[in-house]
Amino acid sequence: MHWGMVVDLKYCIGCNSCVIACKEGNSTPPGIFWNKVLEQEVGKFPAARRIFWPIRCMQCEEPACLDVCPTGATTQREDKIVQVDSKKCVGCKACILACPYEARTIWEENNGYFQNGLTPYEKVGYANHLLGTVQKCDFCADRLAKGLQPYCVETCLAKALIFGDFDDPNSDVSRALKEPRIRLRLREELGTHPSTYYLT
Ligand code: SF4
Ligand code: SF4
Repeated sequence: MHWGMVVDLKYCIGCNSCVIACKEGNSTPPGIFWNKVLEQEVGKFPAARRIFWPIRCMQCEEPACLDVCPTGATTQREDKIVQVDSKKCVGCKACILACPYEARTIWEENNGYFQNGLTPYEKVGYANHLLGTVQKCDFCADRLAKGLQPYCVETCLAKALIFGDFDDPNSDVSRALKEPRIRLRLREELGTHPSTYYLT
């Protein structure tokens, strides 16, 4: 099995629902974004337009973040998902520097989104994270284990995010890559072999 994602840029409207769903579902603190939507302006008036690029950890087949980790906190599963064991992470930030996709962030301040301390929801959710450790998307591995899709995929109202098993020729992602469209993987020249494709 090889979990992966195909992002159809034709459908993304930049609503950021995926960003909020990720933050809420994974209870990430302020300043931590496992999922982002970058905006690009192309063309000139009157033909100017914007393209939206949903970005998250690419779950690279050859992850630049893996070997630089001095404690073994970063590991890669057989299904290509790259995970961080918070209990082993010492917060050295080597992986943050190594990742070419800026997919990792360190949680350095135990603050919430509101004044007067953490809300009950934040207290429960933040207990899943360790202060001073590095965070990133893991394709919602806990949800995959239950047969569910990642929060961002389930939430995307435009169906711009397609998720599945690249080893299954009949999966949604495999079929999406067979479409006669231009496809690309970001910074492919680095040899990281991202498990995320973009259809332009
Ligand atoms: Fe590692 Fe960055 Fe690739 Fe994710 S995108 S697997 S953090 S190198
Ligand atoms: Fe784009 Fe879908 Fe994310 Fe909205 S939820 S920004 S349409 S990928």
